Amino acid sequence: MSDALDRLGEVRGKIAAAAREVDRNPDDVALVAVSKTHGPEAIEPLIAAGQRAFGENRVQEAQGKWPDLKARYPGIVLHLIGSLQSNKADDAVALFDVIETVDRPKIARALSAAMEKAGRRLPVFLQVNTGEEPQKGGVAPQDVDALLAFCRTEAGLDVRGLMCIPPAAEHPAPHFALLVEMARRLGLPDVSMGMSGDYEIAVRLGATHVRVGTALFGPRNVI
Ligand SMILES: *Cc1c(COP(=O)(O)O)cnc(C)c1O
Repeated sequence: MSDALDRLGEVRGKIAAAAREVDRNPDDVALVAVSKTHGPEAIEPLIAAGQRAFGENRVQEAQGKWPDLKARYPGIVLHLIGSLQSNKADDAVALFDVIETVDRPKIARALSAAMEKAGRRLPVFLQVNTGEEPQKGGVAPQDVDALLAFCRTEAGLDVRGLMCIPPAAEHPAPHFALLVEMARRLGLPDVSMGMSGDYEIAVRLGATHVRVGTALFGPRNVI
């Protein structure tokens, strides 16, 4: 338990240091604690230490732990960071507070309908496949403008920013730089990038949200 607090302090410290290195305000970087595969016993110490933003990649797994945690701790902001199937849109909108993985018109439409039904208008990010990896989710960089226009005019979504997961085998910096440049060009304020291995690089390059799992929780459980 104190391990978790030590790790939280260390990650926060490194985020702040990386931000100051490039004259950014550390408060402009949100730490999203990625709690996938970890249970309430691992999550609660972080909540007790003031952490409020969490990320999960699977709707079903999140449904098993977060309704109870959200009922007990006010102010939790839950980010969906994994790919979404359109038939799970209602469930996702009921539980999550930010959807980071909008990557095609079909999902935009499904989310729009789900939000209308639920009377909740959640902020969303467009996931960009900066490495153009065929097996990975995300809209191709050349299609981002069209998807953004669709999300706004056809789906009425509140698009706040862009998100990416660079190819594992490549240096992340060019991908982060590309994402930041695209967000600037499109006038989107938020950029979600950087994980345990590269969040300091992401902060130096302009991330407003870093998604950190292993560096906070230790190795993932097998579930
Ligand atoms: C699991 C995951 C993370 C966190 O990865 P770590 O390397 O454990 O920090 C970040 N983003 C996404 C989309 C993930 O699925």
